[in-house]
Amino acid sequence: TTAASSDVATGRTLIIGSTGFIGRFVAEASLASGRLTYLLVRPDPPTPPKAKTIRTLQDKGAIIIPGMIKEQDFMENVLKEHKIDVVISAIGGESILDQLFLVAAIKAVGTVKRFLPSEFGHDIDRADPVEPALSMYNKKRKIRRSIEEAGIPYTYICCNSIAAWPYHDNTHPADVLPPLDRFHIYGDGNVKAYFVAGTDIGKFTIRSVEDDRTLNKSVHFKPAANLFNMNELASVWEKKIGRTLPRITITEDDLLAAAKEMPFPQSAVAAITHDIFIKGCQINFSLDKPSDVDVSSLYPDTPFRSIDECFNDFSCSDS
Ligand code: NDP
Repeated sequence: TTAASSDVATGRTLIIGSTGFIGRFVAEASLASGRLTYLLVRPDPPTPPKAKTIRTLQDKGAIIIPGMIKEQDFMENVLKEHKIDVVISAIGGESILDQLFLVAAIKAVGTVKRFLPSEFGHDIDRADPVEPALSMYNKKRKIRRSIEEAGIPYTYICCNSIAAWPYHDNTHPADVLPPLDRFHIYGDGNVKAYFVAGTDIGKFTIRSVEDDRTLNKSVHFKPAANLFNMNELASVWEKKIGRTLPRITITEDDLLAAAKEMPFPQSAVAAITHDIFIKGCQINFSLDKPSDVDVSSLYPDTPFRSIDECFNDFSCSDS
């Protein structure tokens, strides 16, 4: 059973970045869990798809607060006025350092019981990708250190890869079908990674928030059944579409060149792809620090969606 303190479990939750790729999964999961969910949304008029996302979340009970995290006084007022217990940030890679103002506001108010900064990837204190991903990780490291120095209760979500074809030149692979013409296989295609459904990233993030065992910990998403290499992933997709596709090798040098030459954020995706599928950054360490917890051992009875199921979603939309 989950050891949860009641005000964190049912607490008022503020989510930042809910119109984004990862943030939407987190917001959906927060609303599904019945928590009182506030969404900080930038005041500029949203694009039509973002406006639709906001409406959908509002229909499910979300309370919208227009504003920007860079405005520290405003953020302090939001935290106080709405008695926010939990803050979850899923802001995008370009805005990571804006969270310094949020950390300052949380520290000044002093009543937030859990803060989850925008992580949602690898353990950035362990992984060491090439540029430009390294600079992004350095910014995320700076946020971690500022949270720890401020004494803010935190949880870092290390959820590994999203369950989708890992295109090295694409920022949001889950929006895109796996290949229908040829596979690009990184290196020998035998380095494994954890592929986690976006809905599970949301669901287990919210469960972690409610759990005393995740206080001041890094929560690693390493479900054994979701550990696949590229060759295996290609075979799962081939079964779905009922045919085999050519496999073209993308070498380590190709990935390094892409990390150097492509525009941001694709360059960062190429650098992270290199770290995952050449260097094995998701599998080359064990959870041996006191601050590590494995989400599967916290909730052994709750299964993750399988890759097979996730790829069904894509084959259904393949028309
Ligand atoms: P997106 O770019 O899709 O969305 C970012 C969200 O943050 C948007 O809602 C945006 O609002 C909001 N935002 C950005 N800056 C501010 C600000 N200053 N104040 C208020 N809101 C702001 O982000 P992603 O979902 O791609 O990235 C979120 C995190 O997840 C990152 O840490 C990233 O590294 C990680 N990630 C992990 C993946 C994985 O496979 N594990 C895949 C993708 C991302 P607006 O709509 O107004 O722009």
